[in-house]
Amino acid sequence: MTMKPRSKLLIIDDEPINIRMLDGMLRDSYEIIVALNGEQALKRATSTPPPDLILLDIQMEGMDGYEVCRRLMESDITRGIPVIFVTSLTDEEDERKGLELGAVDYITKPYRPSIIQVRLRNHLELKHKRDMLDRLCSQDALTGIANRRNLEIFLEQEWQRALRYDDELAIIFMDIDHFKKYNDNYGHVAGDECLREVAGIMKNALHRPTDLLARYGGEEFICILPATDLAGALIVAETLRSTVLARAIPHKYSDHNCVTLSFGVVSVKPSEQREGFLDLLEAADRMLFQAKRQGRNRIAS
Ligand code: GH3
Ligand code: MG
Ligand code: MG
Repeated sequence: MTMKPRSKLLIIDDEPINIRMLDGMLRDSYEIIVALNGEQALKRATSTPPPDLILLDIQMEGMDGYEVCRRLMESDITRGIPVIFVTSLTDEEDERKGLELGAVDYITKPYRPSIIQVRLRNHLELKHKRDMLDRLCSQDALTGIANRRNLEIFLEQEWQRALRYDDELAIIFMDIDHFKKYNDNYGHVAGDECLREVAGIMKNALHRPTDLLARYGGEEFICILPATDLAGALIVAETLRSTVLARAIPHKYSDHNCVTLSFGVVSVKPSEQREGFLDLLEAADRMLFQAKRQGRNRIAS
């Protein structure tokens, strides 16, 4: 049986004695990391894996807890981590301020350990449900790679970024060759397994963390390559093509006796004159059509 990994808590307090008390209470149930000031806290909040929840003191030397919370909420990377203030400030005004900054809870000292335990558990349960919802919304259920919605959000972002930095943006549109015959001959279950396998192979073949591979529809995949020119994108496409081919997934009803894909590759420098990222998708789709027409298992650009 695989054990569920323990949730990771970040405790932020400039008084080691306070940290020790919370740590003593919680270390049996959670993995604990600590920070003794605001700067350290912001760094630890982006550690891998990220903390699932943050316990935050307010009165600290230098950057206070309110400021730490404000910065955590400002960043895309840390915004999703629930913050609970643990403080000796008991005024209504202080509590209101903390909650308005985006903290999920505000616990005043002296606290009751059993109440902290339960509140933590409840907030963590909500956090894990939120994470699951995020995953369901952005992941393709069959293959586990990004889904079309995720791809479109990502492409829009990258389009804007490339526009701002006057940078290139490349896209690879790919489609499995003769996949209808694969399904018709081997059955739908085998077809699904093939899609999973192809997605996994391609995912492993990509190395830049900034690239995104998504399932666009049925047996169509798209790869977005930020800051990449056509020559670079063609290298990536060739790597994907040859890696899938080399795996030789049997497909008797295809031209090569194994599963292959066709690729359409485009790279552009976004400009205000262009319609937007949909242009890019369309252009790549046209190239894909060319690759199919020219005989499949190839790249057109
Ligand atoms: P081409 O080489 O021109 O791309 O031909 P093709 O047969 O691959 O293309 P076509 O678009 O005619 O067929 C796509 C087929 O993909 C239709 C369907 O059988 C299959 N397909 C689409 N989505 C899924 C899926 O989620 N699971 C499975 N198993 N098959 C799917
Ligand atoms: Mg196809
Ligand atoms: Mg298709």
